[in-house]
Amino acid sequence: MIAVAKPYFNDEEVNAVQDVIRSGWVTQGPKVQEFEEKFAQYVGSKYAVAVSNCTTALHLSLIVAGVSLGDEVICPSMSFIATANAIKYVGATPVFCDVGEDYNIDPDKAEKLITKKTKAILIVHQIGMPADIDRFTELGTKYNIKIIEDAACAAGSSYKNKKIGSHSSLVCFSFHPRKVISTGEGGMITTSNKEYSERLKRLRQHGMSVNDRERHNSKNVIIEEYNELGFNFRMTDIQAAIGIKQLEKLDYIVEERRKIAKRYHEALGKIDSIVVPLEQKSMYSNYQSYSIYLKMGTGLNRNEVMKKMLDAGISTRRGIMTAHRETVYKGLNNSDLSNTDRLSDNSIILPLYVPMDPNDIEYVIDTIQKIIKSA
Ligand SMILES: *Cc1c(COP(=O)(O)O)cnc(C)c1O
Repeated sequence: MIAVAKPYFNDEEVNAVQDVIRSGWVTQGPKVQEFEEKFAQYVGSKYAVAVSNCTTALHLSLIVAGVSLGDEVICPSMSFIATANAIKYVGATPVFCDVGEDYNIDPDKAEKLITKKTKAILIVHQIGMPADIDRFTELGTKYNIKIIEDAACAAGSSYKNKKIGSHSSLVCFSFHPRKVISTGEGGMITTSNKEYSERLKRLRQHGMSVNDRERHNSKNVIIEEYNELGFNFRMTDIQAAIGIKQLEKLDYIVEERRKIAKRYHEALGKIDSIVVPLEQKSMYSNYQSYSIYLKMGTGLNRNEVMKKMLDAGISTRRGIMTAHRETVYKGLNNSDLSNTDRLSDNSIILPLYVPMDPNDIEYVIDTIQKIIKSA
């Protein structure tokens, strides 16, 4: 069976975890700080704040951006459900915006959804393909609203020659095993804003005014204070130690993923009934997922194609989900989401991981070619 995704680990991660356990300091401590510093340096942001996962990263980012009860936040429906859920956690309402052919929210359509209640736009770099950040930054300036990036899938991607994580004041990453690098569970917020960084660090540990490491290293007795409601959204040093090793491999992993994507483009891009995910100018994708779109009216049924691939020993996944059709988001007054529905219902995510046996890559391609021919 060919898997759809696999994390890329070796003995380095295993040894790093052993070292942390032997050190006796297992929760948020020196390894988390090291991971934050290295991650900030890698993406080119001033600060990075590690948290328990990307969902909590989004939740805290919305809080520091000032989003609260009664506000509206524009976001795509076509995203993993955590994007919309985070907006609900702070009492705000997600306003779903349709996507373009690149699966990212359409800035022209987003502008039309802005109201007096709009506090922020939460853009998603879907499956690693950067959204047009500059267009959203312009909207943010024009209407005085915050831009937050859900970069859960986009570690190692770039926009206009700069790494994702360096553009906006709040960018959220995930290290779930389904993403390009993993710490088991884990998240990171990058920011260029010192106040945001300091507040995020307090909010992730119960709103505590000092962290454990400061207290541990202090020559004086420190009595901490709690000045606002916080959370326990900490990353552990065990996870951070894995993250440091994963970060060292990130560029290599992205290069290898791009080689596989290129081979898929070459072979599948020739098939008339399929649209392959190509980068627009100034976008550089990590190809966290490789999603093909089956054109409508060509006699191809998405679920049948997936079943035939499964029968041939190849795992695939449906295209990116939509939140507005799930029960938890029923009843919202949605704008036209026809691209969202069409792209979600007719796309398939193909196997792509490092290292992937070249024979398996060719087998995936051959199998798709055969299925299309017999359709
Ligand atoms: C995976 C994902 C998340 C959630 O990340 P976790 O680290 O699992 O919380 C959020 N948004 C998008 C777009 C994702 O793909």
